[in-house]
Amino acid sequence: MINLWNVLKARMRQGHRTSAYPASIPAFPERFRGRPAIDDTKCPTDCDACEKSCPTQAIKIDRGIHLDLGRCLFCTECVDSCPEGAIRYTTDHRLAARTREALVISGKSAETRLAEALDKKMRSLFGRSLKLRQVAAGDCSGCALELQALNNVVFDLGRFGVQFVASPRHADGILVTGPVTRNMTLALQKTYEAVPEPKLVIAVGACAISGGPFRGGDSGVGGILPVDLYIPGCPPHPLTILDGLLRLLGKLDGA
Ligand code: SF4
Repeated sequence: MINLWNVLKARMRQGHRTSAYPASIPAFPERFRGRPAIDDTKCPTDCDACEKSCPTQAIKIDRGIHLDLGRCLFCTECVDSCPEGAIRYTTDHRLAARTREALVISGKSAETRLAEALDKKMRSLFGRSLKLRQVAAGDCSGCALELQALNNVVFDLGRFGVQFVASPRHADGILVTGPVTRNMTLALQKTYEAVPEPKLVIAVGACAISGGPFRGGDSGVGGILPVDLYIPGCPPHPLTILDGLLRLLGKLDGA
């Protein structure tokens, strides 16, 4: 028989496990791959080694390095291909943006273009309570697992008023993972249509944003819905997702 007193003692020993984020940002391990930093002043003339090394054509050389976070798998092949160190991956977890264009970063436009908040009317509707239906549209479960982690005691998504719901009819928006395979196209479209207006679409992970490694493949369709928030990564860290959601809801100011 379980001794309730022992259970309570064990619980007290564990203490409070929920992250203080966003009041304080936890230290990421050195091997964490966050926002890339580009210094193309280091690039030798006519070198395109990083562009050639990229498995998803996320890098374009055009009078400097342009890196598309929406296609990036954070594999660091480009870093390894460059002996000059023109690209490095920082531990900055903030990646989310409101437009596809804002996901393309370069050495020249090094300023961080993070997601802006919804307008006042939308924030008054969703700011304190946002219900989302997740649609796994052919994903590998990597992004889905990170989304699941958001509900654990460490990240505790519910304390921000954001919850996942089972029915799109109870949702304020959908959160899509995966490259949107042909077999999932109809289901995704019907789920989207079942969400009452006004509604949000959030694309999580390189596959949902650009098709990722499946871009141009036979099984993928992609790009069938208007997107309000792009959260890059392969998969994105739970704090990268949380950062994007809180920015969208106007709960994080500045950079
Ligand atoms: S880290 Fe991103 S940009 Fe660099 S090679 Fe991999 S996918 Fe391409």
